Amino acid sequence: SEIVAKYEVMERVGSGAYADVYRGRRLSDGLTVALKEIHDYQSAFREIDALQLLQGSPNVVVLHEYFWRDDEDAVLVLEFLKTDLATVIADAAKANQPLPVGELKRWMIQILSGVDACHSHMVLHRDLKPSNLLISEHGLLKIADFGQARILTEPGFDASNNHEEYSRVLNDNDNKDTITDTHYGNATCTTSEIDRKEEEEEKELGSFTSCVGTRWFRAPELLYGSRDYGLEVDLWSLGCIFAELLTLQPLFPGTADIDQLSRIIGVLGNLDERAWVGCSKLPDYGIISFTKVENPAGVEACLPNRSPDEVALVKRLVCYDPAKRATAMELLHDKYFSEVPLPVPVSELRVPL
Ligand code: ADP
Repeated sequence: SEIVAKYEVMERVGSGAYADVYRGRRLSDGLTVALKEIHDYQSAFREIDALQLLQGSPNVVVLHEYFWRDDEDAVLVLEFLKTDLATVIADAAKANQPLPVGELKRWMIQILSGVDACHSHMVLHRDLKPSNLLISEHGLLKIADFGQARILTEPGFDASNNHEEYSRVLNDNDNKDTITDTHYGNATCTTSEIDRKEEEEEKELGSFTSCVGTRWFRAPELLYGSRDYGLEVDLWSLGCIFAELLTLQPLFPGTADIDQLSRIIGVLGNLDERAWVGCSKLPDYGIISFTKVENPAGVEACLPNRSPDEVALVKRLVCYDPAKRATAMELLHDKYFSEVPLPVPVSELRVPL
């Protein structure tokens, strides 16, 4: 096939539920790439769609090109990134050495820039976690794994020309082939119909599924079954990631969905109308009930030995009311990042071998 003619496939470097990732070599110039073979049409489609919108953002993984093989499989040719934030955290934890504040700040700024790029294009990632934040040997951090991403569309919202065209084509029943020709390589009519069906199902429900993301980083509204959530679910995940950078321990390592919620409640207190006006309308609010937590520990108890500014930063993200969570752009302007110790340059970040 086309891909075999252009790339040499080398060892497998990772695998997930729907994907296998290999190291590869571009034959024309020897460039090392990652070849991500995705076996699920929906997730391949989502990943390609989101990545195309976000190309040009320095903190999002580069998609060089992609190939569709038959109706189900796609192979994405991505820039190869050696390591990830989970490894940075694990190495520091193993050495029992907290990350120097200047390094911590530079990691956070890179994560925030990447998330800001996603959100300003209305791309909801839905699975932000340290192992999806890949890192180059030069210390550049890039958001990866958009297999669960969704592009939000609001009536009249012009996320990008690319996406506008996509929605227009998708909603035009007489124009199936255009999808194939404009953006999606060899995607066939059949597969675009599968996608249309899923989109229609979600439309009928009027919403998205709440079974997304990795449990430890999952926002409380998802755990209570919300189907009309927004970009804020990524901001919750971000808060969990920042706390983990600060302590080198996961903030809410739940062992099951109920355990996940009870850990959150132990820290923030029970979810009620005082914490978030409207929360009692969440689909599972009446179904899942917890005994009253009299003395919630508070976020500060989870961040022992960290500065008040750091606690405040995490609190701006880890709060019940999604509308109260700070956006990535707002956090980039937080005074924490302009105070000493200043963020170190990317070139001074220590990257695991
Ligand atoms: P999944 O959607 O199955 O979780 P990921 O995109 O997270 O797939 O990739 C799975 C693993 O493959 C990652 O944890 C990482 O180890 C490796 N990987 C993914 N993308 C790259 C890349 N661009 N460069 C190097 N390794 C990668």
